[in-house]
Amino acid sequence: MMTETKSIIIAENVHKWYGKFHVLQGVSLSVNRGEVVVIMGPSGSGKSTFIRTFNALEEYQKGSIIIDGITLSHDLRNIDAIRQEVGMVFQQFNLFPHLTVLQNITLAPIWVRRWSKAKAEELAMQLLERVGILEQAQKYPGQLSGGQQQRVAIARALAMQPKIMLFDEPTSALDPEMVREVLDVMRSLARDGMTMVVVTHEVGFAREVADRVILMDSGSLVESATPDIFFTNPQEDRTRQFLSQIL
Ligand code: ADP
Ligand code: MG
Repeated sequence: MMTETKSIIIAENVHKWYGKFHVLQGVSLSVNRGEVVVIMGPSGSGKSTFIRTFNALEEYQKGSIIIDGITLSHDLRNIDAIRQEVGMVFQQFNLFPHLTVLQNITLAPIWVRRWSKAKAEELAMQLLERVGILEQAQKYPGQLSGGQQQRVAIARALAMQPKIMLFDEPTSALDPEMVREVLDVMRSLARDGMTMVVVTHEVGFAREVADRVILMDSGSLVESATPDIFFTNPQEDRTRQFLSQIL
């Protein structure tokens, strides 16, 4: 019998070097099913590098990462399985400009999952409705606002029916008036029980949605706490210093 472990992400003592540069210096993090973890930290602290190891976009050299019971080992056998379980949304939407919104969303389900076009389109339309842009299905990314493009990117990731969603500064490239519509979609995903790891500086979102907030600095995990403690009574000087710069 398959037993589902409580932790869907188990990263232990992860080290990574870019050449001589020690970018991840022994980072450990476990994420429970349905949990929302927000990662904050100064630019260059290794946040993107760390979460990109969770879907094998980055290799690591030491330590271990287990995603939903699958060990992300150095051989590449498990990468396809992992990528299907872990969706990712980037700062720069990364949509295919020459494909319509609908084609962007159905591409992976058709080619990777081998779904029929009809089945893939049916799910895509449901997802577009969910992210509030059903009427944009036949448009090209360039015809959409940034906020709409990011919602397409979220729908595209969800189309693979992932168990985990990673977000790397999903609102940082957006005009202020579009941040909210993207955060609202993320909020509803969290409410529906999606496991999420979110790199963001949106304090309001972190306070309201995160189960845990983490500070990374210089390739290490400095502090991990509930939002309430993280923002009002952090235990580490480094966290206080960081918060004084962003609050
Ligand atoms: P963050 O997301 O917290 O801003 P990153 O994970 O993007 O930080 O980067 C951490 C550090 O690693 C930075 O100093 C960055 O310059 C460096 N870095 C990122 N990608 C590479 C790469 N491909 N080669 C060499 N150094 C890199
Ligand atoms: Mg980054």
